[in-house]
Amino acid sequence: MSELFEQLKPHLERAYAFQTALRAISWDNSTLAPREAIENTSKAIGILSGEEYKAQVNDEVKGLLKELEAPGEQEKLNDSERALVRKMGKGLRKLEKIPAEEYQAYSELLAKSYPVWEQAKNNNDYASFAPVLQEVISSQKRFRRYQQEEGQTLYDVALDEYEEGFTVEILDDFFGKLRTALVPLIKQIREKQELVQDGFLNQNYPIEKQKELCRFLAEYIGFDFNRGVMAESEHPFTTNFHNHDVRITNHFHEDRLDFACFSVIHEGGHALYEQGIDDGITMTPIGEGTSMGMHESQSRFYENNLGRSRAFWMPIYHKVQELFPEQLGGVGLEEFYRAINKSAPSLIRTEADELTYPFHVMIRYEIEKMIFQGEVSVEELPAVWNRKYQEYLGVSPDSDTNGILQDMHWSGGSFGYFPSYALGSAIAAQICHHIKQVMPLEEYLEAKNLAAVREYLKEHIHKYGGARNTQELLLAMTGEAFNPDYYIAYLTEKYTELYQL
Ligand code: ZN
Repeated sequence: MSELFEQLKPHLERAYAFQTALRAISWDNSTLAPREAIENTSKAIGILSGEEYKAQVNDEVKGLLKELEAPGEQEKLNDSERALVRKMGKGLRKLEKIPAEEYQAYSELLAKSYPVWEQAKNNNDYASFAPVLQEVISSQKRFRRYQQEEGQTLYDVALDEYEEGFTVEILDDFFGKLRTALVPLIKQIREKQELVQDGFLNQNYPIEKQKELCRFLAEYIGFDFNRGVMAESEHPFTTNFHNHDVRITNHFHEDRLDFACFSVIHEGGHALYEQGIDDGITMTPIGEGTSMGMHESQSRFYENNLGRSRAFWMPIYHKVQELFPEQLGGVGLEEFYRAINKSAPSLIRTEADELTYPFHVMIRYEIEKMIFQGEVSVEELPAVWNRKYQEYLGVSPDSDTNGILQDMHWSGGSFGYFPSYALGSAIAAQICHHIKQVMPLEEYLEAKNLAAVREYLKEHIHKYGGARNTQELLLAMTGEAFNPDYYIAYLTEKYTELYQL
């Protein structure tokens, strides 16, 4: 046991307490708080954020971490303590390189930029957002320059924030492979659109019945209602206080059955990850999912690899029909399966199907890379955006609202975040391939045995939280580092069959 680690604990607990309060307020703001609450509540958020920062970044913690990183002291730590020290040390060193006044000014800039973006989006007015975006980009590039290490491109530094070890080199290779393999597939499918009909998913589906179905689906995949709750919000999301309190939200549209169904399976996948974290590390800096990409792999594994398969619905589709006899009584399982997998290029990322989705991400990745390499001005961005949509997906945005202004990420300075969405799908496909080697997945699904796969994921991914990174988890579980070939094979096989190519 390390005496020094014991001294670190109260600091961690203090930071954790502020963090929990902030998450509770944030959850409340997105679900139940009245519209006009935010202006006053944001003052409390500001103070709590400052306290959280001070609890983690102070001379005492810095001193302790430095001593704990020394080889002699490392020997006294167990695996998860070592991982925690490593993670905190890395984060602290990155943060320290940014002067405190600049960090403060940047936080204020971000607080202002969100409403500017929101209004610009509502008014289809990119020009009003451009100056703020310029400021955010300049700050981001300056910060990343402070943090840059030898051999890293500026954009590598941003990427590392969301997915450790995933560089421009790895992502160029990843997206290059997707482009080569999938652009022709998307073009072929465009000519065979009539093969898959999904109009019946857009009939009137009473929301109360949809809620019943979603509750059933959450329980079915193993969401533990004794350690989690569901609520409604504008956009579905998951938040976690600790492994015994994980919350998901959903949003219901009367004329879109698939939206709520797949949202609850998706967020449920995120939630299973957080509920599966080991008791020994919850409420610590390594007590949650290891990265954005790994988190998204869990949600997409449930949503797509399981949730959009025939075997998943086979034992439960009759239940869906019973809930909606008028709408789905005459629709067979095969027809339902095809509809929930329909692929058609579209303008909005969050509404894209499984096959075209990574291209929405690739477009953002390419643009972010250009921004960080200084190859494009803020004024030119909408034109570049529209050109790339035409090139990869064959569609042209009818407005900036449906084009470059659609996502909030850039207004929040989240450059380097988008690739995690596509990485998540690719990691999910690799995991799915592996799981099929170690268990008869389809048979299990057909027999309603979701516990086997849930336990497997818990044992090999979830329980470790942030103690191991994505590459370490993949290597230990599958014997192989990240490999996008499984993703390409999965999509090619699935859509070739679906559209009889
Ligand atoms: Zn997600």
